[in-house]
Amino acid sequence: MDKKYIMAMDQGTTSCRAILFDQQGNICSMAQKEFPQYYPQPGWVEHDPMEIWSSQLSVSTEAMSKIRVSPEDIAAIGITNQRETTVVWERETGDPVYPAIVWQCRRTADIVRGLQETGFDKVIWERTGLVPDAYFSGTKIKWILDRVEGARARAERGELLFGTVDTWLIWNLTKGQVHVTDYTNASRTMLFDIHKMQWDKEILERLEIPMQMLPQVMPSSKIYGYTEVFGPPIPVSGAAGDQQAALFGQCCLQPGDVKNTYGTGCFLLMHTGDQPVQSRNGLLTTVCIDEKGGPAYALEGSVFVAGAAVQWLRDEMGLIGKASESEECCRAVEDTNGAYLVPAFTGMGAPYWEQDARGILVGLTRGVNKDHMVRAAVESLAYQVYDLIRTMEKEAKIELRGLKVDGGASANDFLMQFQADLLGACVIRPRCIETTALGAAYLAGLAVGYWKDIKEIRRNWAVGSSFEPKMGVREREERLHGWERAVKTAMYWAAER
Ligand code: ADP
Repeated sequence: MDKKYIMAMDQGTTSCRAILFDQQGNICSMAQKEFPQYYPQPGWVEHDPMEIWSSQLSVSTEAMSKIRVSPEDIAAIGITNQRETTVVWERETGDPVYPAIVWQCRRTADIVRGLQETGFDKVIWERTGLVPDAYFSGTKIKWILDRVEGARARAERGELLFGTVDTWLIWNLTKGQVHVTDYTNASRTMLFDIHKMQWDKEILERLEIPMQMLPQVMPSSKIYGYTEVFGPPIPVSGAAGDQQAALFGQCCLQPGDVKNTYGTGCFLLMHTGDQPVQSRNGLLTTVCIDEKGGPAYALEGSVFVAGAAVQWLRDEMGLIGKASESEECCRAVEDTNGAYLVPAFTGMGAPYWEQDARGILVGLTRGVNKDHMVRAAVESLAYQVYDLIRTMEKEAKIELRGLKVDGGASANDFLMQFQADLLGACVIRPRCIETTALGAAYLAGLAVGYWKDIKEIRRNWAVGSSFEPKMGVREREERLHGWERAVKTAMYWAAER
């Protein structure tokens, strides 16, 4: 192939990035720009769809000009995006009828309660694999149609379109010619039957959302259309939600492959192949991507407070100056001296599900010092991930072979070693930890023959560091037992409220 690069557009919650990758999967250029967040009321979060589009466009141009690449050198564009965030716009003009309602926004919690009261949450869970929550797009679309004057009637007449951010970007890139989404993004709307792989009429009716406004659902690796916004036409040929793109970028393509992203929170996904696993412990069933770019299934779980616990040490406790200093503190002591921190600042998620739980520090003695505290906080990331993985293994009936990692806190070697020790399995950090953007690039490149097949992509994947378990069984069990007791104490505290 004579074209040199694939461009990944990585549209995140707080910033837009564009990265140019070469055929070996190396990063050749990158540009990034933050865009404004709007909080019009407590618990509400909005973005301006026009700001998302213009920032994405400007970083894309910047990434090209940084290394003097012309659009002719770009073989294809792949998109990965913040999931669930909802945009509704006019088909005719392209103008949004309302700001984008961001995934974090809690404004539709009452609509969700209404669904629960009538038992419809079970129907949604069975068909979409999701535990109904304000987080997903479905109730956000309903809210816009309920609140914006005349919107529902206009949507019924086919005048308004809905999209998650992938759809919004593709629509703008193709100047309004292409209205599509991919299976992974569709699976986060709470409107998509993941067994039949189609929009669910009954859920749409229940939420009073006209089918006409929904995008066509396509594979994650496919030429959706061509963009001429940079000049000569470039194929837009890949799209996936951020977590699924990262799973693909980590080459987790087989049942049992697992990746965890250690960011502010953790996002853990386990590929389960062509079998959707319906969780009894509040994990989500979601669509991911198979070796050919087609749909497959994954189990998804998240840790609410992960890197955020390290931020807390830094910003509220003042125990460290920056996040990376936490590693030195952890290494300055042998262990936590018996202390455990359960950072349930916003309640406990899977597998505990106790929203009234709060953080707790237990096992203190006179000898516990600052380093022990920091270490307890860092270890808490690994314990929480351990709990999620053991739950996933049980539900999917698949034993963990190894854990692939990425995200900011995966830079902490102490944490990675401790994680391997707890799991009794190898933790592998790839050379390129920009797995989300890389996944989008791979999807786009596969569709246009920039990469011939998945074998070529696998060849690019290289281990950066790998961490083998070293801890003895007895020590591991003792520590896990301590963690279990600490979690029980946090739960007890919530129950006695
Ligand atoms: P996000 O994408 O969620 O903003 P990042 O992947 O950029 O997050 O990771 C940033 C998070 O990782 C922060 O919460 C920070 O506290 C934590 N972090 C970054 N470096 C380290 C480190 N060396 N050790 C522990 N935590 C870290």
